[in-house]
Amino acid sequence: MKLLIRGAGVTGLTLAHELASRGADVTVVDIKRQIAGNASWQAGGMLAPWCELESAEDAVLTLGRGAADWWDAALPGHVMRNGTLVVAPARDVAELDRFGRRTSGYRAIDAEAIAALEPDLEGSFTRALFFADEAHLDPRRALLRLQQKLVGMGVRFEFGYGAVHQPSCDVEADCTGIAGRQPELRGVRGEMLILKTSDVSLARPVRLLHPRVPVYIVPRSGNLFMVGATMIESDAAGPISARSVLELLNAAYALHPAFGEAELVETGTGIRPAFTDNLPRVEREGNTIRINGLYRHGFLLAPAMARQAAVMILGTEMEKERADEAHH
Ligand SMILES: Cc1cc2nc3c(=O)[nH]c(=O)nc-3n(C[C@H](O)[C@H](O)[C@H](O)COP(=O)(O)OP(=O)(O)OC[C@H]3O[C@@H](n4cnc5c(N)ncnc54)[C@H](O)[C@@H]3O)c2cc1C
Repeated sequence: MKLLIRGAGVTGLTLAHELASRGADVTVVDIKRQIAGNASWQAGGMLAPWCELESAEDAVLTLGRGAADWWDAALPGHVMRNGTLVVAPARDVAELDRFGRRTSGYRAIDAEAIAALEPDLEGSFTRALFFADEAHLDPRRALLRLQQKLVGMGVRFEFGYGAVHQPSCDVEADCTGIAGRQPELRGVRGEMLILKTSDVSLARPVRLLHPRVPVYIVPRSGNLFMVGATMIESDAAGPISARSVLELLNAAYALHPAFGEAELVETGTGIRPAFTDNLPRVEREGNTIRINGLYRHGFLLAPAMARQAAVMILGTEMEKERADEAHH
């Protein structure tokens, strides 16, 4: 059976992995020239199903709690299981209680425990929430490595405008994110920046709560820190606004003043594809499957959605083959 996947973001690549590891003949096409520049490329890479409960349905936890294991099995060595630390500046400490009421899977910790986890934050915060079971990965490395692995598994990749016109296949999977044509789909703009400094070291993502501008910082190798992310109801993909740069940098500086001296090496914008309920969907229409609406949770939810889609695709095909055999 020939399968065509449109879109080489995290959704398309995880689906390719699920299908290819079940022996399917898979081609992935992307309208861009390479794996970069899509929403997945701009992501923080947090695998944080408990923290996400702050603003998400329980389904995000149910679907996302196995994600770190999936990534670990698919790409050994890429997942860092150091948990998430959630802090708030002294004047916003009530935000910690609010965050705690809306989430689960954490331990409330004091200044000493904060310093033990993150020595560079010693003396900066008196209380924090520690989500020990959460994980993170570097999304760009993970996407590139996954593509490389898929090529090794026999998956074909075609990039660029020309690649979109592919010969017919048995089943097509639309994983085109915000370019998908589902009627309810909307874009939620997320702006981010990347700082470089050797004066701060963090072992895990740190979320800094604030009533208006909550921000997180995700450490990456090479003294890089991804600072994200805005949530703007818009599918405008233009450059980051000055105000967003100010807010993200202010938050980074509030977390550690040494970020004030960091190099601002990149700014970026990604459009999160979301449905009205902010939950992902796998839909089937004839020979086309659509996986979309991964919203804030692409790396967290793509494995579960890809598994669902793979069962839907291969399960039906296997039934068809059995019916054909019976017929002959
Ligand atoms: C700033 C930011 C931070 C985030 N942080 C996190 C995080 O920490 N953890 C997490 O789990 N999630 C995070 N997310 C969410 C996550 O990035 C998205 O949910 C996810 O990237 C959606 O993936 P996707 O593959 O569906 O879409 P995309 O990554 O946008 O991929 C869609 C692909 O389809 C291609 N395409 C479009 N049209 C066509 C066509 N006609 N034919 C072929 N290809 C086409 C596009 O070029 C693109 O490559 C974040 C998002 C943003 C913006």
